[in-house]
Amino acid sequence: MLNNHWIGAHVSASGGIANAPLNAKKIGANAFALFTKNQRRWQASPLCTKQIDAFLQHCEEAKISLDAVLPHDSYLINLGHPDLAQLERSRDAFLDELQRCEQIGLSLLNFHPGSHLKQISIDDCLARISESINITLEKTQGVTAVIENTAGQGSNLGHSFEQLAQIIDKVEDKSRVGICIDTCHMFAAGYDLTTLDACKKSFALFDDIVGYQYLKAMHLNDSKTPLNSRVDRHQSLGAGFIGSEAFRFIMQLPATQHIPLILETIEPNLWPQEINWLRSQTKG
Ligand SMILES: [Zn+2]
Ligand SMILES: [Zn+2]
Repeated sequence: MLNNHWIGAHVSASGGIANAPLNAKKIGANAFALFTKNQRRWQASPLCTKQIDAFLQHCEEAKISLDAVLPHDSYLINLGHPDLAQLERSRDAFLDELQRCEQIGLSLLNFHPGSHLKQISIDDCLARISESINITLEKTQGVTAVIENTAGQGSNLGHSFEQLAQIIDKVEDKSRVGICIDTCHMFAAGYDLTTLDACKKSFALFDDIVGYQYLKAMHLNDSKTPLNSRVDRHQSLGAGFIGSEAFRFIMQLPATQHIPLILETIEPNLWPQEINWLRSQTKG
């Protein structure tokens, strides 16, 4: 078994977080993503020791490293919110998410950067996001804030590598901030991934502007919409506008070893097959 690549999917945690590693094991994954609380609600009851112990035991049984687990925060959080009261609420909720990860012993928290809602400037919104990260990292330990690039739908920021770099630039503790590249979002935001050459160019841009040292995770999704559509619609690997070549390229990049590589593709029935295919494209 080659374990340099940590490949999995965003699995269900319904019935409790301890079910997530069991669901990951079922699909042949050695990585997974999950919500540690209901992603459509602000409030959640704290995790209890019993739940956490069962989660850790199931990860061990599935031979999944805790560093291969990529929790995703609630969809309600906007760390760049133009309204100060709403911003505060988002920061509190984000802190709670980080603390849940800390409590479980997880090292990453994946989140969408934020939206200006057409009420403040892009620069102001990006600065608020950095400040949100600073405020919450300061109150926690051991968890890295992993910013996901977006498709640039609506007023969502973080669709360009420049914007991601701008957020990182104002984060004080650079050792605890990283990036999760979602291939569908990257493509929808205008970075071509349809040929080997295009992949090389697009990823070289990422390395130049952000840097591979910040790549802490990936979401591997094909796209239902064309290049630069600015629309976020995932598709199964090879069945969308991106095609298979990009995923072969990604599996052979040295920077994708020992980081969670997570499918959010639309057919969970295909996940075992997609994981096997991705594994077969690695060199070891
Ligand atoms: Zn994603
Ligand atoms: Zn998406």
